[in-house]
Amino acid sequence: MSVLHVATGIDLDNTAWGYSYRSTEELRWAWWIFRLLRWGGLVKALNGVGSLALRWGLPVEPVLRATLGRLFLGGETLEEALRVAKNLGQYGVQVLLDYAVEASEEASEQESAFLAYQEMIRFAGQHRELIPSVAVKLTALAPPLVWKQKSAGRLSSALTPLYEKGVERTRALAQLAVQEGVILMVDAEESWLQGAIDELVEGLMAEVNKEHPILYTTVQMYRRDRLEYVQGLLRRMHGYKPGIKLVRGAYVEKERRHAAEYGWPDPIHPDKVSTDIAYDQALMLCLEALSEVGLCVATHNRTSCMKAAQYVIMEGIDRQHPHLSFSQLYGMADPLSFGLAKAGFRVYKYLPFGPLRRAFPYLSRRAEENSSLSDQSGRELRWISEELERRQKRKSGK
Ligand SMILES: Cc1cc2nc3c(=O)[nH]c(=O)nc-3n(C[C@H](O)[C@H](O)[C@H](O)COP(=O)(O)OP(=O)(O)OC[C@H]3O[C@@H](n4cnc5c(N)ncnc54)[C@H](O)[C@@H]3O)c2cc1C
Repeated sequence: MSVLHVATGIDLDNTAWGYSYRSTEELRWAWWIFRLLRWGGLVKALNGVGSLALRWGLPVEPVLRATLGRLFLGGETLEEALRVAKNLGQYGVQVLLDYAVEASEEASEQESAFLAYQEMIRFAGQHRELIPSVAVKLTALAPPLVWKQKSAGRLSSALTPLYEKGVERTRALAQLAVQEGVILMVDAEESWLQGAIDELVEGLMAEVNKEHPILYTTVQMYRRDRLEYVQGLLRRMHGYKPGIKLVRGAYVEKERRHAAEYGWPDPIHPDKVSTDIAYDQALMLCLEALSEVGLCVATHNRTSCMKAAQYVIMEGIDRQHPHLSFSQLYGMADPLSFGLAKAGFRVYKYLPFGPLRRAFPYLSRRAEENSSLSDQSGRELRWISEELERRQKRKSGK
């Protein structure tokens, strides 16, 4: 039991509680998957083979479904996701539902993503106790090139109608979210697309967040310019309540590669420690402004979660404050999510669902993330091993 646990009553390492919704067989399976993911070269090769196989129409879905899909995906339909949400709900953990489709250049796919997002928001509205929030990606609603050109201030006349369509769809989703009483969180993407996304989401927040933070933007604190951005957002919030989902950022390698290709300065903090410092600084800024800002602490980082929880306790803020939530990805950091929920905080598991074929980029990102940069898979393996050992000892009566 850690000192912090004794002082705050919050236990973020309790694997017995954290994995109570997983059978031993599921945990053994998860252990193997995380073990395999540590082989960075293998993951890169399999991701390449996987996307080629899907493009050629080869039947790889059963393998995906039984491996990465089983671990990181909440199913392929809304009904399947609801089943997972009900299971999580028994432990006080709610759902941030994500339709796991990624950027598309195809107009028909953008329209079908828009319809699917609408259906998802309505569905969440019907099951608000279990699914109070949903996530969307704007590159699924208009092609990445549109956001890129708009961010660079060079939107061509040929792409202008597509941009306008993207704006119209995003506004319609925000209005539907208000109508259904569902929180809508817009994911953050690559820095060269993000300028236009920020501009649009900030404008829409001013329109729909008059009373409550319903629409949330996402801020990636691995970017050197983002602390200033958060300060600016807080300064500009006149007459509305911004929603901020704070993440560290998922595209370190891609961002650095892209900057190097174009001869631009690296937009990412030089190391993990600098990212951590920036994250916690932004966290404190948002917590201090909590009466006026919606904050979603979206991280698997135990220290950041603990800092936020401690602040809330020390300041005597209600742990169920409607402006505060924590969020972790489905299949990851369960002891954190379950520990925070048990301590009385609002926790959303980010639960992607959707057809495997279209969810492949999401799954391959999870695979890469667990194989490289951070020690995420190491952390997951330690937790899972501890729990498997505990169950084994209990079974053998030791
Ligand atoms: C609920 C939820 C929603 C998310 N939504 C988004 C989203 O919309 N957009 C998005 O981009 N990501 C998103 N992510 C992913 C997130 O950005 C991180 O990639 C992931 O959560 C790991 O960071 P961490 O804070 O959980 O944990 P940690 O393991 O403490 O941190 C790992 C992170 O630190 C940073 N980092 C690692 N090494 C370095 C280095 N050498 N230099 C600088 N920084 C480094 C990277 O951001 C890396 O992902 C989301 C995550 C969650 C939990």
